[in-house]
Amino acid sequence: MKGILVILDGLGDLPSKQLGDKTPLEAAEMPNLDFLANRGEMGYMYPVRPGFVPESDEAVVSIFGNELTSSSRGQLEARGAGLKMMRGDLALRVNFSTIDSLKSGNIIDRRAGRTLTTEEAEILSKALNKIKLPCEFEFKSTIQHRAVLVLRGGFSDNITGNDYVYSKGEMPTAEKIGTFSPLDEDENSVYAANILKEFVDKAYEVLDTHPVNEQRRKKGLMPANYLLMRGAGIEIPKLKFYKRWMAVTYMPLEKGFAKISGMTNFSFDYPKLKNLDVYSSLWEGLKEACRSSEKYLQKNHKDFDYAYIHIKETDLPGHDNKPSEKKRMLEYIDKTFFKFLAAFTPPNKIKVLVTGDHSTPCRMKAHSADPVPVLFYNQSVPRFSFLKRIKIPSFFKKEEQNPEKKGVKFCEGEARNGTLGIIFGKDLLEKVGFNR
Ligand code: ZN
Ligand code: ZN
Repeated sequence: MKGILVILDGLGDLPSKQLGDKTPLEAAEMPNLDFLANRGEMGYMYPVRPGFVPESDEAVVSIFGNELTSSSRGQLEARGAGLKMMRGDLALRVNFSTIDSLKSGNIIDRRAGRTLTTEEAEILSKALNKIKLPCEFEFKSTIQHRAVLVLRGGFSDNITGNDYVYSKGEMPTAEKIGTFSPLDEDENSVYAANILKEFVDKAYEVLDTHPVNEQRRKKGLMPANYLLMRGAGIEIPKLKFYKRWMAVTYMPLEKGFAKISGMTNFSFDYPKLKNLDVYSSLWEGLKEACRSSEKYLQKNHKDFDYAYIHIKETDLPGHDNKPSEKKRMLEYIDKTFFKFLAAFTPPNKIKVLVTGDHSTPCRMKAHSADPVPVLFYNQSVPRFSFLKRIKIPSFFKKEEQNPEKKGVKFCEGEARNGTLGIIFGKDLLEKVGFNR
């Protein structure tokens, strides 16, 4: 193996009051990442282009050198969920969500409080697949509140979703459910929008009174009574082919992306929501992601030239404005997965590239256009290595006796001054010499 790319979802951030005006990366203790940073270069990257606020699919597609127009969230997710797709099938990413009623259409929570278990979603999916529509369709839940819908047949995807948070440009109000609207006058677009409207309305009738939701209400949980959809797509995204790459991904989007990009993907079943504490289940997922990434790299590094590792959990605390949680996650990844990499990659002469797919600043509770830091470990001699030869008198403070502390720290601010400079996502891999 020659190189490993690690994407920490939503890595970039802005200073937070809770962290003493530091970003989670600045506040986190990450000796292993710093070890790598001090033996390489740093830079900062606009995942797509300056001023653009990327969704995860747009960012990852761009970072792997593809033109943005070739991305389509629904298609990637449907393939990641293992659905068989025919040309012209319309695929959408779906969230189970909570609204007050179809009539007033106020969104209470876009993800049903993030407490929907995968098992509950599977039961609801079964009921949804019994809905009668003028065309064939398949609804499949994936992990927790996430699902995909595929309408079979020749459709147009030139339509909006019904979640205004994700429609670029015009945003009537993000707190109300939207309507699917055709973006041209083509009758296929009008037809697609009408069928989807019919489906979500019927779905509400099925979901709102479903025993699963009755139970949830009794437990004081939000009912998963509405479907929010986005990322309509009919074409298989035309992505560059990375056949000498392995991947470790586990969310449907990244799995679909790795598959369509020709990578050999290694995955694991996402840990079940054990109790209703959303973050305890996130931590289970994070631990499994770190464990699996290490395991599959150790097992398969001789069979591939490169690896793409995607860790999803770091994005969530940004959306929830939990900077301390994000810092803790980063520290955990450092002391497990990056500790492994810092020991494993030098003797195997493997280069390591670490970055995020976009920034999710805690204080914005959303993705932003801010650039993300990039770390490229290429086994160069640390610039401060001469310090090791100097005997530091013992009356100096403890930190100063540790030569590693004299080096750089992997964080937004220092990455901006890095020698890799400003990078656009689509040029990243070429810039560090990671080939297809
Ligand atoms: Zn992301
Ligand atoms: Zn996100």
